[in-house]
Amino acid sequence: MVTAIKQRQMFVGGEWVDSTAEERLPVVNPATGEVIAEIPRGSEEDVDRAVKAAQKAFDEVWFDTTPGERQALMLKLAAAIDEHAEEIGRIESENVGKPFASVMRDEMPVMTDHVRFFAGAARVMEGRAVGEYFKVESTLYTSMLRREPIGVVGLIAPWNYPLWMAIWKFGPALAAGNTVVVKPSEWTPLSLLRVAELAGDIFPPGVFNVVLGDGVPTGAAIVKHPQVGMVSLTGEVTTGKEVARAAADTLKRVHLELGGKAPVIVFDDANLESSVEWIKIAGYFNSGQDCTAACRVLAGPKVYDKLLTKLVPAVESLTVGDPAKDDTEMGPVVSKEHYQRVMGFLERAKKTDAKILTGGEAMKGPGFFIKPTVIAGVGQDAEVVRKEIFGPVVTVQRFENDDQALEWANDVDYGLAASVWTRDIGRALNASRRLKFGTVWINTHIPLTPEMPHGGYKQSGYGKDMSIYSIEEYTNLKHVMAAID
Ligand code: NAD
Repeated sequence: MVTAIKQRQMFVGGEWVDSTAEERLPVVNPATGEVIAEIPRGSEEDVDRAVKAAQKAFDEVWFDTTPGERQALMLKLAAAIDEHAEEIGRIESENVGKPFASVMRDEMPVMTDHVRFFAGAARVMEGRAVGEYFKVESTLYTSMLRREPIGVVGLIAPWNYPLWMAIWKFGPALAAGNTVVVKPSEWTPLSLLRVAELAGDIFPPGVFNVVLGDGVPTGAAIVKHPQVGMVSLTGEVTTGKEVARAAADTLKRVHLELGGKAPVIVFDDANLESSVEWIKIAGYFNSGQDCTAACRVLAGPKVYDKLLTKLVPAVESLTVGDPAKDDTEMGPVVSKEHYQRVMGFLERAKKTDAKILTGGEAMKGPGFFIKPTVIAGVGQDAEVVRKEIFGPVVTVQRFENDDQALEWANDVDYGLAASVWTRDIGRALNASRRLKFGTVWINTHIPLTPEMPHGGYKQSGYGKDMSIYSIEEYTNLKHVMAAID
């Protein structure tokens, strides 16, 4: 008997609705390769219906809420997610292949903490000085600044942290007083759909909408819709460029959190044990499918050999396998397509001088498992050094001096995050000043906190996630001037 595959609907205007289009896309468990659900491929009409519902909710209800009222609802959502954390964590683990234990420890509590941060931060948004800056004869004019919501915002999320990245978008957007149309990745829509169910019991209809489908038509329809005032995308650099181009037609605001290729500069005086331990964590967390992954190690001349001697066994000690098992540290990559992409990088690297010190190959199926890999013997021009692989692959290069380390670190198109490892404060501060990255860590790699902004330089995009700055991104600044008679 064939078990019926669950058909998923969109959440629009507080109701579950079918797509206007027939075509369906499979949602796959990457640890088994099995289809676990189907979603509609989506249509422009679906997006239009969601945008109209969001506009209605904005005009009729949400625009008149106070930050405190919005905070109360967002805190309820955080509590509801906490209450269902185990169920949502299982969904996320099954849909993305993330180790369940890690989802419960490293993601679920952090995500709701982020919702709570945005809820509270909504109440402390500031305008700058209010005062009289202009005078005609004896009449003074008072100026004041208002931070206003944009209206309907379109939020397009990636697959690597499906719910977390969606929260980084709908958290500040709702806090700032916007209504939202969220599109999860076509590969990983399931956790957000469960959260939409919870949100449906909390927010007025139309405030929180979820549309499903492919980048084209669904994502593209959000970008071109004239009633969408802003689009926020987390995704690949190529997608970011397409979105920015398409958004130019309606001149809507664009917020882009794109790819990364984070350098990890280990100077000769670094604490080697600690740097190796963190590379093992931050290079392979979420199977290396992290925009800030510690994927590009640059090691000093005196420490290079020692680092490799320690790093290779550390990486080989990672437990890779069934995401449901408690001791699993790394699962599969997200999809067959992505597995082929990552394997393509490895196959091409094998045809060069690159030395694959461990890994470099797939594991026996079912599922899309790739062995944690360390590659040495690569120059600055190597494809694996320059391009985002987004898999469990770390390259290690040997630099001669500090200037070369910083030059190589900066010599990629990306600029999202970097780390430096040294006991010398001057060296660390000089590096953090010269690195062209939106985040620089000193003697650590990967921790983020909602109070601090996260976002890229260069082709890693523009706009900030998290922090009060992200809430401001989802607002318009208005100058109101009044004559004092
Ligand atoms: P992707 O660009 O393939 O897809 C992202 C989203 O965009 C999906 O929902 C997709 O359906 C949609 N999309 C695709 N084409 C579109 C179009 N033409 N118009 C509108 N929407 C479209 O990215 P992905 O593979 O899902 O995610 C991985 C990428 O995300 C990596 O490059 C990673 O570095 C990046 N990322 C960045 C950050 C950050 O904070 N900077 C965080 C997480 C992931």
